[in-house]
Amino acid sequence: MKTFRLPEKHKEYKNFINGKWVESSSNETFERISPGHGEVVGCYPLSNQRDTEIAILSARNAFKSKEWSHLTGAEREKIIRKTASIIRERAEELALIETLESGKPISQAIDEMEWAAGIWDYSATLARHIAGEANTNVGNDMTVMMQKVPIGVVGMITPWNFPLLIISQKLPIALAAGCTAVIKPSELTPGTTLLLGEILQEAGLPNGVVNILAGYGNPVGQTLAESNDVDMITFTGSTAVGKHIVRASAGNLKKVTLELGGKNPQIIFPDADIDVLIDAVVFGIYFNMGECCNSGSRIIIHEEVVTSFIEKVVTHAKKVKVGDPLDPKVKVGAIINNKQFDKIMEYIASGKAQGATLKLGGNRITSKKGLFIEPTIFIDVKPEMDIACEEIFGPVLSILTFKTNEEAIEIANNTVYGLSAGVWTKDLDTAMIMTRNIDAGTVWVNNWMSGYPEIPFGGMKQSGLGRELGPQSINEFMETKSILIKSNPASGNWTYGS
Ligand code: NAP
Ligand code: MG
Repeated sequence: MKTFRLPEKHKEYKNFINGKWVESSSNETFERISPGHGEVVGCYPLSNQRDTEIAILSARNAFKSKEWSHLTGAEREKIIRKTASIIRERAEELALIETLESGKPISQAIDEMEWAAGIWDYSATLARHIAGEANTNVGNDMTVMMQKVPIGVVGMITPWNFPLLIISQKLPIALAAGCTAVIKPSELTPGTTLLLGEILQEAGLPNGVVNILAGYGNPVGQTLAESNDVDMITFTGSTAVGKHIVRASAGNLKKVTLELGGKNPQIIFPDADIDVLIDAVVFGIYFNMGECCNSGSRIIIHEEVVTSFIEKVVTHAKKVKVGDPLDPKVKVGAIINNKQFDKIMEYIASGKAQGATLKLGGNRITSKKGLFIEPTIFIDVKPEMDIACEEIFGPVLSILTFKTNEEAIEIANNTVYGLSAGVWTKDLDTAMIMTRNIDAGTVWVNNWMSGYPEIPFGGMKQSGLGRELGPQSINEFMETKSILIKSNPASGNWTYGS
């Protein structure tokens, strides 16, 4: 693989509004320091409420003009598909930006660009399948058309853990539907989302259809959530900010879809082959430094097999290469920022204080300049401990045990979250009992974290509202308009009838 280096000079970015590259109206900027190297890697416009309102107006005007929504599905498909191919061409450049801004390993970042491009390809096909329905079953002289129409201007607010991938779970589908958009990426990782503006322009997207601003949740995200000119918000991030957005968006009762946190269990039964599943456990927790809504952060294992499991998981976790995210062999890079780093260390302290046993790691890696934490494992974890039911968003695995199926289900469901879960068993009955009783939007049986653009993804309980991906995802960005057409209309008798 090609070698990647820390660039000598950081990149300068502008906002993308109405097809133009602009500074913030105050001319203020902010910087991002690479969490893996401690160096400035990007400088972005610090957008304010006024900038956000200008971007919303641009998206509103583009929607009103119908320049995008009135293209044929085939024409929209072409531009969405072209975007996928440019993402592929520029994958290494985009991946490097994400590695520098987020601390994620470069080889993983390159894979993510291919996943993102794959969703653009899939969404392109959806653009051609918008057709609505007809009903001729409500009377001989009545024909009803149920048309699918784009919802309008969509505000998109994304987090820092998978910047281009997460916006790619939203934007291409909204574009396929004919919507226009204003996007606010996380202030920690805005680079690739801003570059997406350049890619869309090259792909032929009309001006104003997509507008992208860098800046903080408040005021940029807040203005989007409150605006009467935004018809829908699609948000990925923390459950706390998700609740805040629901409240802030009440002014015009805009539609809100949410992808939030998780505390995802992997339930392991005695008949499962531990040598087969062990890699999925280690991947499940340490992938993206554990900063992943799908992190498999809770192992719930039958007590008969826990001892041999612990030995194997510790051996495997020790082999995971942690370090400079620019090294193509590294699997675990740097933690996103000091705040998240401190939060993870506090959870490690709370695990110890509440009586769990620290079996591996638990420390900062001080030999490196950036923010690195050792892969960490707690055993003897009880369901009521904080490390068993709260989202840590770091490389910390909690191992709990169970005796009966009922107990496994109860522990698995003992959080406010319901994003994803895993079940490892060779027994079909056990697998079916578990998949029916675990409250989660996705349940993996004998695998972890598989995903496809064709398959819906989202959370139950406080993990979210609505679903992304899959053929139905386009309906999230559309309204249904029922048109009732009567043939041979004759006057009714309401006025004079008894
Ligand atoms: P976050 O605080 O929920 O932020 C997500 C996005 O919302 C960011 O773009 C953020 O802007 C924006 N935002 C913040 N306050 C806002 C407001 N008042 N109105 C509108 N938008 C607002 O998440 P985070 O800071 O990225 O990460 C914190 C925690 O969120 C993590 O520890 C983890 O628990 C969770 N998380 C979950 C996922 C997931 O995929 N489910 C992903 C990432 C994080 P800023 O640029 O100002 O932050
Ligand atoms: Mg934040």
